[in-house]
Amino acid sequence: MTQLRKHFLKYLCQTSSDPIGLEIDRAEDSYIYTTDGRRYLDFLAGISVANIGHAHPEVVKAICEQAQRHLHVMVYGEYIQTQQVLLARRLASILPASLSSVYFTNSGTEAVEGALKLAKKYTRQTQIISFHGSYHGDTHGSLSVTGREVYKTPFYPLLPEVSFLPFNDTAALKQIDPSVAAVIVEPIQGEGGVILPKKQFLPMLRNQCRKAGALLIFDEAQTGLGRTGKLFAFERFNATPDILVLAKALGGGMPLGAFIASPKIMKCLSVDPPLSHVTTFGGHPVSCAAGLASLEIILKNHLADRAEKMGKKLRTGLTALAQKYAVIEEIRGVGMMIGLVFSDEKVCEHFVVAARRAGLLLGYTLHTNRTVRMVPPLTLSDEELREGLFIMDWSLACAAKGTKDLRITH
Ligand code: PMP
Repeated sequence: MTQLRKHFLKYLCQTSSDPIGLEIDRAEDSYIYTTDGRRYLDFLAGISVANIGHAHPEVVKAICEQAQRHLHVMVYGEYIQTQQVLLARRLASILPASLSSVYFTNSGTEAVEGALKLAKKYTRQTQIISFHGSYHGDTHGSLSVTGREVYKTPFYPLLPEVSFLPFNDTAALKQIDPSVAAVIVEPIQGEGGVILPKKQFLPMLRNQCRKAGALLIFDEAQTGLGRTGKLFAFERFNATPDILVLAKALGGGMPLGAFIASPKIMKCLSVDPPLSHVTTFGGHPVSCAAGLASLEIILKNHLADRAEKMGKKLRTGLTALAQKYAVIEEIRGVGMMIGLVFSDEKVCEHFVVAARRAGLLLGYTLHTNRTVRMVPPLTLSDEELREGLFIMDWSLACAAKGTKDLRITH
């Protein structure tokens, strides 16, 4: 065991007994390189972060330039910082007119916290509705609206007045009444196992929220910025939220989140009392510079369209594998957000481990260990796609035989 690994296990808080534990040397485009000289094709992209691939040179350049101008200078919202303004303006230019006021945070969970507070303050209501199987983050408020009991039990009491409806159950939406401040939903449930909404679900949810006067929050931390074949997943499903949460890919590899609403709604954060929601580092100028460079790359290279096209090719390849190996139960997803559902947990685990040994990074979603998540960079080339499918073919053969052992040479 290397000294670094020993110290990783000794000095860093471990969140599982079995961390993946790759010792990272560097990352570039679709690959991660480890200190033992190996190269891994990254179909996880830092969990839907590296939409433009790792360490894009234009992003790195923007980071260096901004770092030379200034780092942190003041808490959020007081000084005029060019990169924040430019990124907010650019986001507003690609979003519907009702989503034109941006509040930057450091992370997804903070953006969710801000969105929940905003909805409560604006509507002066207290109830929050979320959905079973959802994931919205790990701070107290976000955890309160996360729809998986096992992660919440050790932390009660959490936020009061939160209730959960079944995802995709249109009849249950009647429960959204005028006592509800906010309904929070992922347009596609990510950690729940890449669960797509039924055609009518989000439009009916939109309608019911409007009738009840509740604000509709779409948490697009995972689905945003081209991942699903559209810039934002809500464009696929005919429903525009009142508040949009972005994170993950937003910072181009730097920590950045945002909640976005209309100026009318956002105004309530500046009155009664002023400074109703503040943050020291939210919208860090270096993160915003990286985020702006990354967004321009997504737009210039039409990466949402590319995600649609490459996602189809990936699903076609996976369908062929599913015909070859009976262990695959279902292939779900849109664009480059794909879930490969196995009939058996053990086989699924063997598959993921075998793929990693053969140089392909895949993982589970948090709420299920029968679904393998694929969220590769949207810049993935045809050759990389073929490499991924080749390794999966090999790994499925191993998994179907019940062995994690694999010899493969590149
Ligand atoms: N919302 C969703 C839908 C997410 O997938 C995640 C992270 N997996 C979060 C919120 C939390 O984001 P962060 O880890 O940046 O706090």
